[in-house]
Amino acid sequence: MSTKEIWFETLHNGFGQFFSIDKTLYHDKTEHQDLIIFENEVMGRVMALDGVIQTTERDEFIYHEMMAHVPIIAHGRAKRILIIGGGDGGMLREVCRHQSVEQITMVEIDANVVEFCREYLPNHSAGAYEDPRFNLVIEDGVNFVNQTDMKFDVIISDCTDPIGPGESLFTSDFYQGCARCLNENGIFVAQNGVCFLQQDEAVSSNNKLSSYFEDVSFYQAAIPTYYGGIMTFVWASQNALLRQHDLSILQERVSKSGIRCRYYNPAIHAGSFALPQYLQDALSQ
Ligand code: SAM
Repeated sequence: MSTKEIWFETLHNGFGQFFSIDKTLYHDKTEHQDLIIFENEVMGRVMALDGVIQTTERDEFIYHEMMAHVPIIAHGRAKRILIIGGGDGGMLREVCRHQSVEQITMVEIDANVVEFCREYLPNHSAGAYEDPRFNLVIEDGVNFVNQTDMKFDVIISDCTDPIGPGESLFTSDFYQGCARCLNENGIFVAQNGVCFLQQDEAVSSNNKLSSYFEDVSFYQAAIPTYYGGIMTFVWASQNALLRQHDLSILQERVSKSGIRCRYYNPAIHAGSFALPQYLQDALSQ
């Protein structure tokens, strides 16, 4: 019997997940992180950075749809989008589906992630890198948001976990910079970990963002790859009404966008802001 190589991910001592590696497509150190892309019989092609699973072909749509469409539909008139990170191209693909969006800037620290995901995860970007509205900046996201004179309607921080280069994207310096770069009625969202296992990430983001935004909240979705339960996405804006639209408004906007998703829909959008009591209690400490 062939004994396949096993990839273990233990984000939390003593509790993790594993993937059998059917074929390694790429594995090397980039300027910033260790990058591997391999094939798995259940989840398709899988990409990990510094030993942490980032995305899989099979369930990436849940994460990318929820981080792109919830803020853009909630905003209602988003024309200028900033993606921080997002090197695999899945977030860009979903943002590009909005014809009302006029300009998309992606600030990714590691050019090699873009290069090798374009080659080995082509279904993630699905041609979005050729979109004429798209502009790629290879830079640390925290430097960009603190130095640029550009303004955005939605900022999506599609970053790694707060280890290695991703650490700077969970700091007050970064959040202050994002608040500075947002237009009136602008919305900031970021992946904020699996709250059952990484609750301290949500509490920390909530406290730091509250210094720069009037309204900080969370929404959630269950994505199998990010094991341990629901993933929380932090949400920040200066106007709480932006996350409190009636279902009928969401339905009207989604219909007008002409976008049909595999996970996201107006009811999921509205319901995703409902949070477990243990997280609400931790956030109100
Ligand atoms: N979906 C994944 C998740 O939820 O963990 C994240 C996907 S994406 C691969 C994360 C990207 O963030 C990577 O391409 C990484 O290079 C980029 N990144 C990490 N730190 C960064 C920083 N300080 N500035 C810009 N991009 C950064």
